[in-house]
Amino acid sequence: TAYLDRIDALNPQLNAFITVDRAKTLAEAAAADARRAAGTAGALTGVPIAHKDIFCQQGWKTSCGSKMLDNFIAPYSAHVIEQCQAAGLVTLGRANMDEFAMGSSNENSFYGAVKNPWDALAIPGGSSGGSAAAVAARLAPVATATDTGGSIRQPASHCGVTGIKPTYGVVSRFGMVAYASSLDQGGVMAQTAEDCALMLNVIAGFDERDSTSLERVKEDYSRDLAQPLAGLRVGLPREYFAAGLAADVGRIIDNAVSELKKLGAEVVEVSLPNTQLSIPAYYVIAPAEASANLSRFDGVRYGHRASEYKDLVDMYEKTRAEGFGSEVKRRIMVGTYVLSHGYYDAYYIKAQKIRRLIADDFKAAFAGCDVILGPVAPTAAFNLGEKSGDPVQMYLSDIYTLSVNLAGLPAMSVPAGFSDNGRPVGLQIIGNYFGEARMLNVAHQFQ
Ligand code: GLN
Repeated sequence: TAYLDRIDALNPQLNAFITVDRAKTLAEAAAADARRAAGTAGALTGVPIAHKDIFCQQGWKTSCGSKMLDNFIAPYSAHVIEQCQAAGLVTLGRANMDEFAMGSSNENSFYGAVKNPWDALAIPGGSSGGSAAAVAARLAPVATATDTGGSIRQPASHCGVTGIKPTYGVVSRFGMVAYASSLDQGGVMAQTAEDCALMLNVIAGFDERDSTSLERVKEDYSRDLAQPLAGLRVGLPREYFAAGLAADVGRIIDNAVSELKKLGAEVVEVSLPNTQLSIPAYYVIAPAEASANLSRFDGVRYGHRASEYKDLVDMYEKTRAEGFGSEVKRRIMVGTYVLSHGYYDAYYIKAQKIRRLIADDFKAAFAGCDVILGPVAPTAAFNLGEKSGDPVQMYLSDIYTLSVNLAGLPAMSVPAGFSDNGRPVGLQIIGNYFGEARMLNVAHQFQ
């Protein structure tokens, strides 16, 4: 009730939630109480949670930030939601996000921009801006989120919360509205690495309904939190500390590295020479996959349908023209272009080759270190409206996050300090494949 009251009081300013339904939340809370009374509660039973509006949740509107799904009530729940329900977590509401998770500032939502709780002039980051703002403003202790090219880490960094994107395949994508399926990965945000570890224990695990879900022995992601860092080899990629990184962000990351040295870490320089290519490669591959995934929004199966049309083709065209926002349309057009006959080899295949080179860079770097550290974004949160008219500037701000998704690696953002204008800045910790427990250990010791 305290969280619901706080949402009522602060959400009108922050716009972090798209849907709040007090009756549904109280019913879930009552069920959690009943489990506690019956002695069947788990450690997280009764803990409130905000869910990014990209995870289908039975009986709840699942809009994905789009007019296209404004009338869509999910008939089933995503694996992530099922796992949270089984643990007894209580849904507080559905968090705002960039339309179809496309964006880096949460200005692309059909429901309006989310505000950064630290500074109403600042973007919260995107696309999981609602999840980050909700956790930062204490509207929820934890939130689910997704990361296709940085959408957990970047808003976590800009809002001063902790966020983790697991290794691709660790969290099932079943019931998660697809953006770019080979890059999309669910994860969580919370105040601390410890809370993230407990949440990852809930949402991770094999699910046969996602063909890329990995069948692995169940892990306890909190097992190494208390391990001392002596002997940890930290890699600093030369390319992450070059031109383009704001001086105040650079200083905060340097300070964080000094702290880790005091805790016993040993620092080595590594190189990720294809970092610059991650932006063009990602912004070919992600739109290509998006153009295919979003073809399902045709006005026939679910979601918005134009009210007046002459024939079937006219209905498709009007529905998609009305239902999608401008950034989504841009991605569909770019994606269709790079997949088209005559351009496929020049763009799509080339981007796939670069993707392999980027993964190989990480493989070489991890031969000499246990985790890689760097900034999450080149600057602290920029102002609302500052980049919304210039998509290329917006895409360039993803430089430190995209490669991780192209390689399928796990990574997190941990609060590390404040910019010269008082906005939060996160430290990015990148782990090797299945290095979640090690990454969480480093984050926890740092915190
Ligand atoms: N900013 C990137 C994009 O717009 C990443 C978004 C995400 O991770 N969902 O595609």
